[in-house]
Amino acid sequence: MIRLAPLNYAYDALVPYIDAKTMEIHYTKHHQAYVDGLNKSLESYPEYQNIAIDLLLKDLVLLPADLKISVQNNGGGHYNHTLFWQMMSPKSGVVKGSLHQAIVSTFGSFDQFKVLFEGAAKTRFGSGWAWLILTPSNELQICSTQNQDNPITHGNIPLLGLDVWEHAYYLHYQNRRADYIAAWWHVVDWDFVQQRYEQFAK
Ligand code: MN
Repeated sequence: MIRLAPLNYAYDALVPYIDAKTMEIHYTKHHQAYVDGLNKSLESYPEYQNIAIDLLLKDLVLLPADLKISVQNNGGGHYNHTLFWQMMSPKSGVVKGSLHQAIVSTFGSFDQFKVLFEGAAKTRFGSGWAWLILTPSNELQICSTQNQDNPITHGNIPLLGLDVWEHAYYLHYQNRRADYIAAWWHVVDWDFVQQRYEQFAK
């Protein structure tokens, strides 16, 4: 049985960039629904119940067809949101150290990285995520995925991700996705992203 991990901050901790009602509904309703859906689909597959969700997503193609669809959608939703909550913090901070160096050498500057990342987030049609990923050849790249697809299914490691589903911003920003994206930089927990980079970079 998979359970929703506690949030490390209060629902109103990311105000004014993310409002308390959106945080509460996003965490207690949307994320919980992904967890419930995943648990339900795993009921008929006890052999997969103790396998970590990132491993199931990595080997998605090997799963039985009906479980595969649920792991992709509900499992992806659970994994993506678990990361997303940790990638944000009221203390935010700045990118520094080896990750800052890698961003500058890959994208030219931190500002240029932000422009490209925002472009991926704005142009994702419909629901999905924008990502900063680490490829198997140890390169940083920006990409986006649809719905709850995650870069690990495609062989990459997500370092930073932004949820651009309307449920992530509509209460406060309505249709102004670009405003939500611009505001979100204020709550990125760069220490967490840096830790992921140091953990996975070769
Ligand atoms: Mn979401």
